[in-house]
This record gives sequence, structure tokens and C-alpha cells, in this order.
Amino acid sequence: MSHAMPSGRRPAPRLLSVVIPCYNEENGVAALFARLLPVLDTLGVPYEIVCVNDGSRDGTLDALIESARRFPQVKVIDLSRNFGKERALSAGLAHASGEVVVPMDADLQHPPEAIAEMIGKWRDGYEVVYAVRHARTGQTLGEKMFAKAFYWLFDHLSEVPLPREVGDFRLLDRRVVDAINQMPERSRFMKGIFAWVGFRQTGIVYVQGERTAGTTKFNFFRLLRFAFDGLTSFSNFPLRVWGLIGAVISALAFVYIVIRIIRTLIWGIDVPGYESTLASVLFLGGMQLLTLGVLGDYLGRVFDEVKGRPLYIVREVYAWPVEPRQADTEEAAQAR
Ligand code: UDP
Ligand code: MG
Repeated sequence: MSHAMPSGRRPAPRLLSVVIPCYNEENGVAALFARLLPVLDTLGVPYEIVCVNDGSRDGTLDALIESARRFPQVKVIDLSRNFGKERALSAGLAHASGEVVVPMDADLQHPPEAIAEMIGKWRDGYEVVYAVRHARTGQTLGEKMFAKAFYWLFDHLSEVPLPREVGDFRLLDRRVVDAINQMPERSRFMKGIFAWVGFRQTGIVYVQGERTAGTTKFNFFRLLRFAFDGLTSFSNFPLRVWGLIGAVISALAFVYIVIRIIRTLIWGIDVPGYESTLASVLFLGGMQLLTLGVLGDYLGRVFDEVKGRPLYIVREVYAWPVEPRQADTEEAAQAR
């Protein structure tokens, strides 16, 4: 991508916020801070770490609070239940006050050392610096093909293309975070949202590490649901394509009927035709059910949006040395 860049470098950011969604990461928290804090200390930039406890069922919250007590830079947002990574990340972005904000995973698969390079690019004038995974290991052939198909579809169906091998690990300028905080939609496909907001974007390359502790929270079905969510929240092509398919089938059916009429007029009625009747009934029945399914999915999404429920609910915010604040709402966070 080429952009008209402002001339001259920006000064170092006044505050860096690192946002970390955590779900059942009790065994990873200690290792996370042991690596993250020294790296951030070398940057020479004031920073805060916003950890979002996404309704963990293990001792994650206690471990986070313990860290927040020891390190005044650490702030913990405790959600009332598990809202999923995308919403946990939204909660973290809403509570981050940095001039630049870096979302990253709790499992150290995102090397914090890359943040220095991201800040360099930001100082060059970029507003989004995403991290591109280099030579990812441990992906099966099936997963690779699945990812390829997803990206191909997404690029062809949505307004904006998605950069490849890019996750949520990136640096965002305050303006970008404000823009994202203003997006009201309930279905948060963050990769798509990051691309959709635009701004001057560039990438840096990093090597993804192994998970330090615990296991991945995304199985095949969760990923499938995630991919489908991504496609349907950034394109209404799946909704419209049935009109086109219906028109083609109707046209073919019309031609077929005309042929049958002419044949009947010339050669009279021949009784056979059971298979073709059955085939067309089954085929059309299947298509109709599929269409209904797609309609239902979008309708469900509209229903979710119309209810207008908050994206997430905060039980408590822990930040030391001040006393824990009262649970604040999404609105209050956005007002800040
Ligand atoms: N996560 C979360 N809520 C969830 C699932 C995951 O906050 O419902 C967090 C998790 O703790 C981690 C990040 O999202 O910090 C990425 O999750 P994971 O490492 O399991 O995903 P993967 O790296 O395998 O894609
Ligand atoms: Mg991970």
C-alpha cells in the first residue's frame, strides 16, 4: 500500500497501552509479565498494561490482580462472564488510554520485542502497524486450505481485503482506537474491523512463538463459526446470491418447460420421468432450505443488533495504587 506520508518523524508516544485478553491463562500470567515488563522497560516510553479477564474459570483473575498489586502499570478489567476474545479485546481497547495501543495474546505467541519496531514505524507516520507471522508452523494441510478458502472468499466478497498471516497483534494509533470504539456492532470480527477502518497501515514481520502454558481456546468448530461470522458481518453477498441462482434456475426451468410442451405436442405424452421429477424436487427443496438458513443467519444477526445489548459487562476494574473503582459501564469507558 502506498500512502502520502507526513514529513518528519513523530516524537515518542506519550503513553503506550498493551491490551491483553486472558481466558484460563493462570499458568501463563507469571511468564507473561516476566518477559513483557523488562521489554517494555527498555522502550523508554511510559506504558500501561490493560489485562481483560474474559470470565476465566481458573485462577487467572487472582494471578492478574496479584500482578496489578505488584506493578502499578498493570490494570485488570474483570468481565462478568466469558464474552469471547473479540469482545474481550473491545473491552480492553475501550479501557486503554495510550496514544498508541498494542493488543497481544496472553500466551507469549506474540513476541513483545516486536513492539519497539512497531513504535518506530508509528513514529515514521503510520497509524496501524500490524505484525505478519513469518513461516507459521504446526498448521495442518486442512487448516491451511481452510484459511486459503476463507481469505479468497473474504477478499472477493467484502469491501476491504484482509492482509494475510495477520492476527490481532499490532500497534494502533489513538485515532484508530477511537474509531473502533465508536463502532456499535455486536458482532466483532476484529481482523475485519481493523482493516475496515483504514488509516495508513503497514506491516512488520515476526516469528510466532509456542504457547507458554495451557492450550488453544479455538477448536475447529469455533474457527468455522468465526470464519462464517467474519464473512457475514462484512458482506451481504451470501444473502443476495440466491436471487441470482433463483433467476438462473427459473430461466432453465422455463426453457425445459417449453421443450417438454413442444415434445408433447409432436410425440404425445410419454409416462417415464419419475427420476427427473424427484431430482428436481429434491434439488430445489435443498436450495430453499439453504436459502432459508442464510436468511435466518442474517436475521439472527439483525436481531442481535436490534436488541442493542452492551458488548460486554465489566464486573470490576482493578488498578493500584488507587482503590478498585466501581464496576463501570461501556458508556463510561467510551466517555473517557
Ligand atoms: N481468549 C479470550 N477469550 C476467549 C478465548 C481466548 O480472551 O474466549 C484469549 C486467550 O487467553 C489468549 C488469546 O485470546 O490470550 C488468544 O487465544 P489462543 O492463544 O487460545 O488462540 P490461538 O493463539 O490458538 O489462535
Ligand atoms: Mg495463542
